[in-house]
Amino acid sequence: MKYRLGVFRGDGIGPEIVAATLQVLKAAQERDARLRFEWVPLPMGWEAIRATGSALPESAVEALGKCDAWILGPHDSVSYPPALREKLNPSGELRRRFDLYANIRPARAYPGLPAVCPQMDLVIARENTEGFYADRNMAWGIGEFMPTPDVALAVGKITRQASERIARTAFSLARQRRRKLAIVHKANVLRKTFGLFLEVCRGVGAEFPEVEVEDYHIDAMTAHLVRRGADFDVIVAENMFGDILSDLTGELSGSLGMAPSINASATQAMAQASHGSAPDIAGKGIANPVGMILSAAMLLAWLGGERKDPAAGEAGQAVDRAVSAVLEKGPRTRDLGGAASTEEFTTAVVQQLSGN
Ligand code: NAD
Repeated sequence: MKYRLGVFRGDGIGPEIVAATLQVLKAAQERDARLRFEWVPLPMGWEAIRATGSALPESAVEALGKCDAWILGPHDSVSYPPALREKLNPSGELRRRFDLYANIRPARAYPGLPAVCPQMDLVIARENTEGFYADRNMAWGIGEFMPTPDVALAVGKITRQASERIARTAFSLARQRRRKLAIVHKANVLRKTFGLFLEVCRGVGAEFPEVEVEDYHIDAMTAHLVRRGADFDVIVAENMFGDILSDLTGELSGSLGMAPSINASATQAMAQASHGSAPDIAGKGIANPVGMILSAAMLLAWLGGERKDPAAGEAGQAVDRAVSAVLEKGPRTRDLGGAASTEEFTTAVVQQLSGN
C-alpha cells in the first residue's frame, strides 16, 4: 500500500533525528516492494515562526487531513515568543485537533545496555485529550485561571467516553501481550473524577476476561515501578499521570533518548519521541535517534493493524529488530556510553535492515 506521511522536522535536535528516521523508513521501503511512502514536508516550530509567525501554521494542519499518518520532531516551545507560549504547544494542538486520544508509550530495556530495571518491558496507554492537564480540556478557553493574583485554579475533566476508549485500547494491547493490565488512579482522594475513570476501566475489563486486572494509586505505583518494574505489562492512566509515569519508566528502562511513542485516533496516528528538542546538544550530530526511529516503527505497526496491511506491520517489526541488534553490538551514541555520531548509528541501522 502507499501511505502519505507528513514530516515535521521540529526544533533543536529535531532535524537531525527526523532525517535519521527518514533514512531508516526509506531503507524499509526498499526491502519490500509492497510498501510505498509519499513524504509531505510540513513546517513547525521556529522554522514556521520565522516564515509565518505561527509555530503550527493552519496550512500544515489542513495538509494533515490528507495524510495517513505523520512524524513529529520535538519542539522547543519554552523558547517561543511569549504570545505563542500562551497557546497550546504544537504537539498538544495536533493531539486536540485530530483527537489523537491514545498516547502509547512503551518502556523496554535492551540487553547489554545499562538500565535501573533491566527486565522492564511494559507499555503505558495514556489518555491524551482531557484529564488533569487543564490547558486542553475545554471547548473554549483553558481550564486554568486566577480569580485573584494570589489564587490559581485548574479544572480536571474525566468523561465516560474518553475513559472507555483508552481503556479499550489498553485492554486490546494487553490481550496481544502478557495479558496483564494495571489501572492507575487516585480515586481514594479524587473520588468523582478518578472514581469514574476506575469504574469505566473496570467495566471495559469485563469484555476482556482473559486479561488480569489490578489497580493502583498513582503514588504507590511510582514505588512499585521502581521496586518491581518487570512485573508490569500494560498500564492505563489519565493524561497527567501517564505523562509523569512514562518519564519514570523511560528512565528505569534505559534513557529518555530511547523512549518512543505514538498518538493515535481511530483513523490517523502521529509518531513522536518522548523526549524534547535537547537544545544543549542541537546541531552537534550526537543526538540519539532511537526514540524517533522506534516511534516510526510503532507507526508502521499501527498502519499494519489499522489498515490490515501485513507489509507495514512486518516493516515495523524489521525496523525494531534492526535497532535492537545495533544497540546490542554497537555502535552506540554518547548518551549510551558510545562514541558514534547520529549519522554513524543510523548508517549501522540501515545496513542491518538492508541485510548488509
Ligand atoms: P529534553 O528532553 O529536550 O532534554 C533533557 C536532557 O536529555 C538533555 O540533557 C538532552 O540533551 C537529553 N536528551 C534528550 N533527548 C536526547 C536524545 N535524543 N539524545 C541524546 N540526549 C537527549 O528536555 P528539556 O531540556 O526539558 O526541554 C527542551 C525543550 O523541549 C523545551 O522547550 C521543552 O518544552 C521541549 N519539549 C518538547 C517535547 C516534544 O516536542 N514533545 C517534549 C518535552 C520537552
